[in-house]
Amino acid sequence: MAIATVNPATGETLQTFEAYDEDEVAERIARAYETFRAYRGTGFAQRAEWMRAAADLLDAEADHIAATMTTEMGKTLVSARAEATKCAAAMRFYADHAAGFLADEPGDAAAVGAGRAYTRYQPLGVVLAVMPWNFPLWQVVRFAAPALMAGNVGLLKHASNVPQTALYLGNLFTRAGFPAGCFQTLLIGSKQVEAVLRDHRVVAATLTGSEPAGRSVAAIAGDEIKKTVLELGGSDAYVVMPSADLDAAAATAVTARVQNNGQSCIAAKRFIVHTDVYDDFAARFVTRMKALRTGDPMAESTDIGPLATEQGRDDVEELVADAVGRGATVLAGGVSPDRKGWWYPPTVVADVTPDMKLYHEEVFGPVAALYRAADLDDAIRIANATGFGLGSNAWTTDPVERDRFVDELEAGAVFVNGMTTSYPQLPFGGVKRSGYGRELSAHGIREFCNVKTVWIA
Ligand code: NAP
Repeated sequence: MAIATVNPATGETLQTFEAYDEDEVAERIARAYETFRAYRGTGFAQRAEWMRAAADLLDAEADHIAATMTTEMGKTLVSARAEATKCAAAMRFYADHAAGFLADEPGDAAAVGAGRAYTRYQPLGVVLAVMPWNFPLWQVVRFAAPALMAGNVGLLKHASNVPQTALYLGNLFTRAGFPAGCFQTLLIGSKQVEAVLRDHRVVAATLTGSEPAGRSVAAIAGDEIKKTVLELGGSDAYVVMPSADLDAAAATAVTARVQNNGQSCIAAKRFIVHTDVYDDFAARFVTRMKALRTGDPMAESTDIGPLATEQGRDDVEELVADAVGRGATVLAGGVSPDRKGWWYPPTVVADVTPDMKLYHEEVFGPVAALYRAADLDDAIRIANATGFGLGSNAWTTDPVERDRFVDELEAGAVFVNGMTTSYPQLPFGGVKRSGYGRELSAHGIREFCNVKTVWIA
């Protein structure tokens, strides 16, 4: 894939970029490595000062970087601005809490025959971050803010369709005061990732993206015995039980499905509704999906813009066509409009069965699949009938049902009477084929630390 800014609203190529050659990559790895040796000795207070300065820059430049994101990948300008603001908040969160999260932890010295015993968290070194285009700032910042606060340094290989956002991020931290080399963008294609990963100075990697990309990076890192965190795809369940507030459940379901033009790993994708309220919920949900305004992502009134890439639009079209060809019913949308750019309408598909790809695969666009569940057991069975396990949602006011969902849904998160969202204060990550490791909260900042045991006689 060429490294280029292509406006998904029009299909027009606006700017192309040359990938860095071997020497340019080597120079940046060397700079990162050298920087780490001194940077790891800086204190939390100094890093926090730089991190807060980066947050201030981001807040001040939110309109500018939001417009760049919208131009590069089609998210609405309103949501792009919100993303920039969320990133600044996460930076401040780690500026405030990193020292506490990584403070020495006393151990039971007497039990191990020591005078003193404790755990110390130390940075690992140069970490490679391979990131996707869907939240081009947030995915990077949720890695970079804790990693830099922990004393690590980062190299960013961003998705090839968001190079301007990638370059902005590569400069942001340096402009805020971090030493040059703490956080650098590598403009490289995915085929160049292996060489970076195998470089002895790069000690770990985090990847947010698709399963094939995760499998490849984890295999290479495994071969090199290097730590990885993988944040991969999801096909999250959204279960609605009879006791739920149906109107609130339907309204939130729409947001949960179409956020970011339907291209979110934690978007609710499979709507599993108890048979007693299925028709009622479906009617409310379809009405709301049909009422969404699709159009220019730069316009304040737009709910849904284009999909980010032509391939992404084609993949969504294909999943829906396969389902319809095997007997699924389209209740809304389902046909791409005849216009330039990569558009797909808000779509609801019912009667989805296991012989359809839509049943098993992640649909990365504004397409909701509706399932009818006979009872609570059936709802949990359908919810878990997926290889993914990222977020999950359950709507019920019955405490017994709630506890069953919390216990039995196979996912990295369960949100009850709300939609899955990432918060700096809460851990984020998946199980099954959605990946492993956690980002955000205290868990996220410790992923790229040496958890060092200290025993002193
Ligand atoms: P992608 O194709 O996997 O790309 C993600 C990143 O990986 C890009 O930088 C890409 O570079 C790179 N890449 C692709 N193949 C690679 C390989 N073989 N070796 C090394 N790097 C490789 O994913 P995407 O289409 O951009 O993003 C959509 C997917 O990401 C969805 O499945 C979504 O659910 C998932 N996602 C997960 C989370 C989460 O937190 N769990 C969050 C957001 C998205 P190029 O652009 O140069 O190909």
